[in-house]
Amino acid sequence: MTAPICPRCGGAIPNDATPGAYPGALSRTDNETEICSECGTREALEQFFGDGFMPQSEWLVKS
Ligand SMILES: [Zn+2]
Repeated sequence: MTAPICPRCGGAIPNDATPGAYPGALSRTDNETEICSECGTREALEQFFGDGFMPQSEWLVKS
């Protein structure tokens, strides 16, 4: 089974240490795209600091 890949950073979901072990985070950009735990944390921080989220058009893997 292939672990899902985070479209935001290209890493494994939920992380590179335990790929596929459990679901990742839902991106706050659309509340449906699955991203890795680290990116989920980054989006939370981006929201916290008021700069907005990195739009999907700037993600590593284009959808
Ligand atoms: Zn990621």
